[in-house]
Amino acid sequence: MKPDLFEAPDYYKLDDLLTDEHKLVRDAAREWVKRDITPIIEDYAQKAEFPMQTINGLAEIGAFGPYIPLEYGGAGLDQISYGLIMQEIERGDSGIRSTASVQSSLVMYPIWKYGNEAQRKKYLPKLASGEWIGCFGLTEPDHGSNPGDMVTNFKDKGDHYLLNGAKMWISNAPFAQIAIVWAKDENNRIHGLIVERGMEGFSTPETHNKWSLRASATGELIFDNVKIPKENLLPNKSGLGAPLGCLDSARYGIAWGAIGAAMDCYDTALRYSKERIQFGKPIGQFQLQQKKLAEMITEITKAQLLTWRLGVLRNEDKATSAQISMAKRNNVDMAISIAREARQILGGMGITGEYSIMRHAMNLESVITYEGTHDIHLLITGLDITGLNAFK
Ligand SMILES: Cc1cc2nc3c(=O)[nH]c(=O)nc-3n(C[C@H](O)[C@H](O)[C@H](O)COP(=O)(O)OP(=O)(O)OC[C@H]3O[C@@H](n4cnc5c(N)ncnc54)[C@H](O)[C@@H]3O)c2cc1C
Repeated sequence: MKPDLFEAPDYYKLDDLLTDEHKLVRDAAREWVKRDITPIIEDYAQKAEFPMQTINGLAEIGAFGPYIPLEYGGAGLDQISYGLIMQEIERGDSGIRSTASVQSSLVMYPIWKYGNEAQRKKYLPKLASGEWIGCFGLTEPDHGSNPGDMVTNFKDKGDHYLLNGAKMWISNAPFAQIAIVWAKDENNRIHGLIVERGMEGFSTPETHNKWSLRASATGELIFDNVKIPKENLLPNKSGLGAPLGCLDSARYGIAWGAIGAAMDCYDTALRYSKERIQFGKPIGQFQLQQKKLAEMITEITKAQLLTWRLGVLRNEDKATSAQISMAKRNNVDMAISIAREARQILGGMGITGEYSIMRHAMNLESVITYEGTHDIHLLITGLDITGLNAFK
């Protein structure tokens, strides 16, 4: 793979809106990605393997629980720092960012928000340090966009719960030590349970043959009469709103992450357009290529401003789920379009692993589907502005 010459585009001087702490956190993540992700990521994506050696580095840059309080081992940062970390990691690879998102927003967040003090103390420090990796089981084979109809369930057996069912498409599943599993009780109410590797009847077969997020491990969660200790139920929130609250946090991080992937594609294409000579000129001198590049930087800049503002609203605890949906949907779509255009600027070289663009393009096909599909986020906006439900 080519050396990482990445220079982050900042056309509207967004850096002026950031605090010194934001820039410090962002720059540390950026340096780490250049040093520890870029040199190895193409190889791991080709092998379809998650690079386990990145876990320590992810913990060190604060990617596991950026906004979780220091007392639980988190980094105690604000929402903009969290977003910037996700942006930088996804600049390297969406699969690595997925592991960080799942760990922070889908595993640590529900334990922090919906768990009790004993659960926080038991799990959060180990998750923050990367000693334990977690996964989040919401999606089922027959219930993706409609998780409220899930069939995974547990029954109260007096001194324990008995869990049955299956989850599909679960990031980190093949190597996770714990899973936050969403299941229905005997009254059809959804609860979160902490399921630990090694519990009898719990297995996590890996999902193979993915053309997207190849450097992220995906698997199933299968529960065959798994005995769950009662203290493993998250006591402080139930109903579909509980997993959706986690998704808000993760989707917000994805909105930033997608900007990172787009920035990398744009930066690569811009550099290539100045170096590649055809018809005696750099291809960047042709209007058709300039149109592509000018539109890319316009869209990146719009997304940066939208997302920074969303971060301010999150810091003030004012951001709505619908506002998060808009940013996730807009930014991932923006990044996919930029990856496609950037790939064309590189001509044939754009399809090779010499450059990151094709890998980003393929990764983003998962990112546009998980955590609410492109369609579902549009329906969320539609419902928010009209008050009319078009889901069913
Ligand atoms: C690589 C990867 C990693 C993932 N990681 C996780 C994870 O860690 N944990 C987890 O729980 N899940 C995870 N997912 C699952 C992901 O969240 C689901 O794939 C996603 O929610 C969509 O569900 P589905 O694939 O069943 O598609 P479906 O829900 O079957 O949707 C198929 C199509 O129908 C459309 N559609 C559905 N309902 C409507 C409607 N009402 N109106 C209009 N169109 C509609 C959708 O937009 C989509 O285009 C992951 C998925 C992938 C691909």
